Amino acid sequence: MNKDRIWLSSPHMGGREQEYIKEAFDANWIAPFGPHIEAFESQLEQYLVSGSVAALNSGTSAIHLGLILLGVGVGDRVICQSLTFAASVNPILYLGAAAVFIDSELETWNLCPIALEAAIVDQIKTQKKPKAIIAVHLYGVPYQVEAIRAIADRYGIPLLEDSAEALGSRYKGQACGSFGDVGVLSFNGNKIITTSSGGALVCSTKELKERAVFLATQAKEKSPHYQHNEVGYNYRMSNICAAIGRGQMEVLGGHVDLRRKMHAFYVDLFKDIEAVTVFSVPSEDYFANYWLTAILVAPDAEKGIDREALRLAFEAANIESRPFWKPMHLQPVFEHFPYYGNQVAEGLFEEGLCLPSGSNLTDEERDRIVATVKVFFGQ
Ligand SMILES: *Cc1c(COP(=O)(O)O)cnc(C)c1O
Repeated sequence: MNKDRIWLSSPHMGGREQEYIKEAFDANWIAPFGPHIEAFESQLEQYLVSGSVAALNSGTSAIHLGLILLGVGVGDRVICQSLTFAASVNPILYLGAAAVFIDSELETWNLCPIALEAAIVDQIKTQKKPKAIIAVHLYGVPYQVEAIRAIADRYGIPLLEDSAEALGSRYKGQACGSFGDVGVLSFNGNKIITTSSGGALVCSTKELKERAVFLATQAKEKSPHYQHNEVGYNYRMSNICAAIGRGQMEVLGGHVDLRRKMHAFYVDLFKDIEAVTVFSVPSEDYFANYWLTAILVAPDAEKGIDREALRLAFEAANIESRPFWKPMHLQPVFEHFPYYGNQVAEGLFEEGLCLPSGSNLTDEERDRIVATVKVFFGQ
């Protein structure tokens, strides 16, 4: 086997990134400071339409600062979707708070409103009111935006919108990333656009953004000497990373189209294969960037078909595919935290597989995927 590996999601440069990097070198702005940072932030603000954006060094640090801005501290409880990447949860623990995990529903595979409300009611009765809710747009498919917002408002609990996978997705025409009391974006190497590593916090006001930037730059007070009245962090995005981001923003729209074409390609490929369900939006209110196309494989022991067998068939053809995020309430590091729901997230994890979805896949690579699938399902 000497064919090149087909990746799940690899960086895809637009072309102008190196020009912006050169500008940074020419001006010697090789620092977590410089003109590209503000320019990248204002591109993001224009794209999202509402919100003030603070560019940071990762999505994880954006979640950490976001929780701080929402007032989360030692001994608090934070509600979080269980079916997600560990980065959604880790910052809860950085703050000495505890996680409360919630199951998924079957429409969007995200936060289940029924389990969410049951958890809030029970936590208020037996513990105390949760301090924040973390909702995730898994694989770029928006969660039930209105139902989740209504519950958050009913109980007066702020919402952190983890939109790390959903830049370019929309609900009723409004951009994902702009629905939370704070929103989080990620520009890690595997995301829909990348700054090599990076993230952003979307704030509801300019003042909140300034507070985030203050905390992200070691909480230095305004004075000629170094004066610190509270704990700070080193979380600001560098000017070099922002240079890459500026080039990437120029191609974001095109990359969303290409990811959605990959999803359409898989819908067509699996249309006659009964064992496979391709994860798609539940109605026209939802517009997904389809960062990753995700499928469920119904196991059939007689035919030797299941998620893992298909993954191994892809692997044998040097094609990367990945099981879903393993639910957080099943992870040894988090399993002592409470969990509300049934077995929806577990079921999705058992049968779910993410497929190569990059905006940079070639026709030849798609042909290899088709051939592998046809052989596996005996077609
Ligand atoms: C990637 C990701 C993050 C973290 O972003 P980083 O930039 O890698 O720190 C957080 N949440 C979800 C759901 C993600 O997929």
